[in-house]
Amino acid sequence: MREVIPLAVPNLSGNEGKYLRECIETNFVSSAGPFVEKFEEMVARAAGTACAVAVSSGTTGLHLALHSLGVKAGDLVVLPSFTFIASANAIAHCGAAPWVLDIDPAGWTLDPRLLEKELAGRTRRAGEDLVHTPTGRRVAAVMPVYTLGSPADMQPILELARSYGLPVVADAAAALGASYRKGPLGELADLTVFSFNGNKTITAGGGGMIAGTDEKLLRQVRHLSTQARPGREYHHDQVGFNYRLTNLQAAVGCAQMERLEELVRRKRQIQAAYESAFAGLPGIGLFPKPPWGESACWLAGITVEDPGLPPVKNICERLRDKGIQTRTFWKPVHLQPPYRDAPRSGQPVSEKIWDKVLTLPCSTSLTAEQQGCVIETVSGLLR
Ligand SMILES: *Cc1c(COP(=O)(O)O)cnc(C)c1O
Repeated sequence: MREVIPLAVPNLSGNEGKYLRECIETNFVSSAGPFVEKFEEMVARAAGTACAVAVSSGTTGLHLALHSLGVKAGDLVVLPSFTFIASANAIAHCGAAPWVLDIDPAGWTLDPRLLEKELAGRTRRAGEDLVHTPTGRRVAAVMPVYTLGSPADMQPILELARSYGLPVVADAAAALGASYRKGPLGELADLTVFSFNGNKTITAGGGGMIAGTDEKLLRQVRHLSTQARPGREYHHDQVGFNYRLTNLQAAVGCAQMERLEELVRRKRQIQAAYESAFAGLPGIGLFPKPPWGESACWLAGITVEDPGLPPVKNICERLRDKGIQTRTFWKPVHLQPPYRDAPRSGQPVSEKIWDKVLTLPCSTSLTAEQQGCVIETVSGLLR
């Protein structure tokens, strides 16, 4: 059988094994252990923040971030429709619901002009609260998503959020290594959440990180992540969570972080090679390159726009038969059964693009020969 070219697999060729052995030899496998703190420091430095709190996943990180900023049962949180389901689920885990807005075609991220229009037209002040007029629910936060590792246009989003008194949580799950207006990501939103799931550029097997510049807020996040226990006794001053990362996971994360620049550079190279191969092919589009930021290029791919070409699902099946693993991409939140009744704007952009996205093999270990084979096979199918 021919070797299969995978979509995106971890690259564990650094110190991962060595650090894992250290965990076993020192008996530090749980969340007490030196790698957890080291991993937090490394991610905080890369994100440009003073501190970061390691958690068990991107999803639990988003939940804890929203909870720590006061999102409660019955609230609404502004969310772009084009995102992974985990962003919406984290809102639902607070007992809140997403207020689903469309994305900007320039970046496939939350559209600030639409946000401005919706906040102006559909909310009113009620004492301290901002209320969504059609549902009477409190609007509690804004959650932009850094789609495919590319930041949202945060300057206008932050200005709007500030003027309405709304905190901002950034779902930066796959964006570690990206930049906004040449600056680091971590100083933009109140809290910025990264994921270290197995298919992200930097993985810890599973895991997440909450980064931010407000040290008092981060202390509260850390406190809540470990059962809200102020001392060593079994005394707990709030309803906390068991959301900490383990030393085993952090050991892998530290080894990966040593290679952050190298791995992100490789991701960008792979995306650039696809861009130059597919640019100008009739009916094929490229992923957006917004002027406000530089993407970490988590997943590479193209859009199949010509209605004369086969649906992306069929293209994936045909490529699978040829030993090339590719995937369709996120179905928007407002089309998912649990969120069918969530309040939302019109969705012309996300509805136009979501089922045209074809993600292509982009593991950092992908060889030039393998990428050449992918390009040739995909081009053959699309002619
Ligand atoms: C991967 C991802 C998540 C979820 O992270 P986990 O660590 O798998 O829980 C959330 N949002 C986005 C945009 C993601 O890409």
